[in-house]
Amino acid sequence: MVSDVHGAGGLPFECTRCSACCRHEPGLVLLSREDLRRLLGRLGLDFGAFYAKYCRLVPLGGGVAISLRETKEYDCIFWKSGCTVYDARPVQCRTYPFWPGIVDSRTDWIREGRRCPGIGRGPIRNRSEIEEALWEYRRNSPILLDPGTDPEHLDENTILGS
Ligand code: SF4
Ligand code: SF4
Repeated sequence: MVSDVHGAGGLPFECTRCSACCRHEPGLVLLSREDLRRLLGRLGLDFGAFYAKYCRLVPLGGGVAISLRETKEYDCIFWKSGCTVYDARPVQCRTYPFWPGIVDSRTDWIREGRRCPGIGRGPIRNRSEIEEALWEYRRNSPILLDPGTDPEHLDENTILGS
């Protein structure tokens, strides 16, 4: 629950499509099961082929999670003059900047505004829209695997829980 949306009843945000959140800096785009299913369907790939081309394992909370790869310039692997999987982009990308830790306090929101020029401009996003994004973000927690997971032996059914 956003406590008071910083006393304004909402937060101004309008994406400028600057692509700063997709490029130039090292970062993680962690996949949930729903993200993975959506991307596999969008690209028509099985998990093994998708993982080999687009993913890597990264440490997370005592285990490992599946993140999208980056190019050597630190661009997201799916960025090519724009997001090439925009309609199937992960929840992390869909809900930004309405994440816990960014909207929780005015200080955090202003700090994130130094990274994202869309923060603080444009129309006010109302409380229910922000709450919905937060709910979507929390509902799609990253897939968490055992720390010793061998990327060569990842099993699609296990990963997708099917
Ligand atoms: S950094 Fe902000 S303004 Fe730029 S593309 Fe990402 S969400 Fe949009
Ligand atoms: S999946 Fe698309 S929106 Fe998300 S970081 Fe990559 S290029 Fe950006």
